[in-house]
Amino acid sequence: MPLSISHYELIAYLCGKIFDPMHTIPYGRQHITQSDIDAVIATLQSDYLTQGPAVDAFEQAFAQYIGCRYAVAVANGTAALHLAALALGFAKGKRIITSPITFSASANCVLYGGGQIAFADIDRQTYLIDLNQVESLLKQGGYAGIIPVSFAGYPIHAQDLHYLADRYGCALLEDACHAPGAWFSDHAGTRQMSGNCAYTDAAIFSFHPVKHIACGEGGMITTNREDIYQKLLLLRTHGITKNPQLMQQPNEGGWYHEMQILGFNYRMPDILCALGTAQLQRADENLLRRQAIARRYYAELSDTPLHLPTQAPADQLHAYHLFIVETEQRKALYDYLRQHQIFAQVHYIPVHTMPYYQALGFRRGQFPLAEDYYAHCLSIPMYHSLSDDEQSYVINTLHRFFELS
Ligand SMILES: *Cc1c(COP(=O)(O)O)cnc(C)c1O
Repeated sequence: MPLSISHYELIAYLCGKIFDPMHTIPYGRQHITQSDIDAVIATLQSDYLTQGPAVDAFEQAFAQYIGCRYAVAVANGTAALHLAALALGFAKGKRIITSPITFSASANCVLYGGGQIAFADIDRQTYLIDLNQVESLLKQGGYAGIIPVSFAGYPIHAQDLHYLADRYGCALLEDACHAPGAWFSDHAGTRQMSGNCAYTDAAIFSFHPVKHIACGEGGMITTNREDIYQKLLLLRTHGITKNPQLMQQPNEGGWYHEMQILGFNYRMPDILCALGTAQLQRADENLLRRQAIARRYYAELSDTPLHLPTQAPADQLHAYHLFIVETEQRKALYDYLRQHQIFAQVHYIPVHTMPYYQALGFRRGQFPLAEDYYAHCLSIPMYHSLSDDEQSYVINTLHRFFELS
């Protein structure tokens, strides 16, 4: 055995019979560098742990990265969905459409405010919400908004959605949790970043450790609309404003503030915002790494029975939050990978099949493409710090599964 062979190549060489039981390869994970740690420590030693300058700095850096006017940092992606839904009036008496293939928070956020959710089935190739399905719902009338998801990192075509939404008087809230850095080209040929809100009213992101930018917890709402922005600032902090220009009653002194609407404490602390700003410095580099990992999967898994994800056309950029393969043997493959310390995951169990949604009246069989997708899908490891050796091990293990089966 040549000494230069790596740990994982050795493992692969020994046909997966020996492995380090302490080392697992998840489907996604964070990457923390010394500069991240330094940024957090500096904030811990500063005057503000929350409501300080690191929040503004992160918001500004993020808005610049995405290319939108306003960014509002909040406690997590779900809080971002909640507040954006409220700010857009996706609440009591309103019916809103989303995809059944998403994290349940994309739908839950409408229910928080007393609104109703409807699902439109997916496009079986891209796994994104199918615009034809959306349109047939809209034709029935009575819908106030759409929450499209740039699923797995494949950007929604926000302009096409905008045409639809406009025609039927709907607002658009993009769930861009999977897609920071993704872009599509609009019909004029201009690159539009996911979540830049050029064709939507607002978008949201999450900084959970499995996402591109990892803060532990955290979220961001982006918008180009001043009215939405002001509403979000109020909603994030109890509905309280200290801005003298916005007071509705006479100012009674330096302490004076007003609670004007029913809001929440959904703030993101400075400690986490500093981590976010540090992480954001490496966003482009990390995106390139994710693309390289995807290219290698396409090249080295093409001879397996796996169905590999549809690649975005040349005028779009897939951000590869997830790398989803499809197989008839999903359960067996999931179990086999797990035995070999590879923790693949299923994204997602269709929201409408969850017990809570079944109790609301949704039925199995209602969105057959989403359900067929769910029966086959598996997210294999995809994160920017996945090493070449680790990826070799994943690829070899996948090959071995199909050799044995
Ligand atoms: C992660 C995620 C969320 C929720 O974000 P949290 O920060 O975990 O609350 C919402 N939608 C999608 C598509 C996500 O992937």
